[in-house]
Amino acid sequence: MKYISTRGQAPALNFEEVLLAGLASDGGLYVPEQLPVFTQEEIASWAGLSYAELAFKIISPFVNDCISDADLKVMIDETYAGFNHSAVAPLKELGTNEWVLELFHGPTLAFKDFALQLLGRLMDHVLEKRGEHLVIMGATSGDTGSAAIEGCRHSKHVDIFILHPHNRVSEVQRRQMTTILADNVFNISLEGNFDDCQEMVKASFADQGFLKGMKLGAVNSINWARIMAQIVYYFSASLAVGGPHRTVAFSVPTGNFGDIFAGYLAKQMGLPISQLVVATNRNDILHRAIAGNDMSKSQLVHTLSPSMDIMVSSNFERMLFDIYDRDGAAISDLMNRFRTESVSLDPARWEKVRELFDSFAVDDDATCQTIADVHAETGYLLDPHTAIGVKAARECIRDKAVPMITLATAHPVKFPDAVIKAELTAPALPTHLTDLFEREERLTVLENDLSAVQKFISEHVHPE
Ligand SMILES: *Cc1c(COP(=O)(O)O)cnc(C)c1O
Repeated sequence: MKYISTRGQAPALNFEEVLLAGLASDGGLYVPEQLPVFTQEEIASWAGLSYAELAFKIISPFVNDCISDADLKVMIDETYAGFNHSAVAPLKELGTNEWVLELFHGPTLAFKDFALQLLGRLMDHVLEKRGEHLVIMGATSGDTGSAAIEGCRHSKHVDIFILHPHNRVSEVQRRQMTTILADNVFNISLEGNFDDCQEMVKASFADQGFLKGMKLGAVNSINWARIMAQIVYYFSASLAVGGPHRTVAFSVPTGNFGDIFAGYLAKQMGLPISQLVVATNRNDILHRAIAGNDMSKSQLVHTLSPSMDIMVSSNFERMLFDIYDRDGAAISDLMNRFRTESVSLDPARWEKVRELFDSFAVDDDATCQTIADVHAETGYLLDPHTAIGVKAARECIRDKAVPMITLATAHPVKFPDAVIKAELTAPALPTHLTDLFEREERLTVLENDLSAVQKFISEHVHPE
């Protein structure tokens, strides 16, 4: 399969190249030239498969000109064997046709493990074959960093440097990163905020001279392989409630439009999905774009759902590329204007977006209220991100006869503040993390200075 850039100017790449590349050279994002489409019979025939077997069916068309079936099977099996639930992504029923899809049974208790556990293995496999070494650099406000570190800790050909804002991530999140004592893992605690961390990563991608010829790789959701792995659980959830014979709806708490974009792709690939709800917190650029045709940046607000605190949703561009009939020049023009001004879509294009997505923005008060309400109704404890999804689902639902599945993106133990504000008791850490607060930590505090960070990285990479 070939991958093309949303801005039409970068060369087409194969899977291996896309996996290692991150952003396209024209500033766009890579998408498959053509999606595999499955028939209803084919999807129905997958009903009895394990999660790993299903993942193989869905992922192999995206990678099979680069990775053999046998190698892919091993990597997928190992990835999902490491999850702490036999169903990998179990569904819980909250009420009639109201479900949550628990995506937090991976090692770091957030849905990012689904993709990053596989990504680390894929990268190592491809690097081994090519005889290359990769330096990963990423900025995190919490979940991405821990999931990426867990995903790469065993990679022989990867060094990973994760920047987090000093004293501004929760203690659980920090410890999930800093207690991984592998030789290829480096936590940089930057004396700045998350935007400073992100700026350093961007500047380093733009000018990689400090790496003396080594390549820099990305682990955020601009990396296509992350989106690819996330398509699988839409299929598994649908099959679990009677799909594909029955249509389903999904509500997805999202910031960067990554997870919901995977749902959109599942639909394009033949899965009967009647509704996709985009759920945001007060950082609501997606809601304003979808409901009001207003794509404009606004001031970042810190919320109780920090993993969705974002000003610009990178993956929205991937969906707009389809909406603009894959016209790279039009997307390039739109995104260039968006850098400096507010933009809106042509009315006919916006109409298409509205046919595909509903959206709703939820503030902190409503988030806590939803955690409290759902707990009172069912005894089930939601994390704040998932609560936003459930609230948006309840507000936007179009057909009560269709199962509405909210993606539960994190375990509530990761975000105790919201649970406590909802006047409930924060849950205990799961068994594989009970000694988290006693484990040794390793991190380096660096001043908010690009050359200091780059010097640290160039001194600590270990190409073999
Ligand atoms: C990363 C994250 C999200 C948002 O994911 P997108 O890729 O922006 O869709 C939502 N919830 C949690 C818990 C996360 O860690």
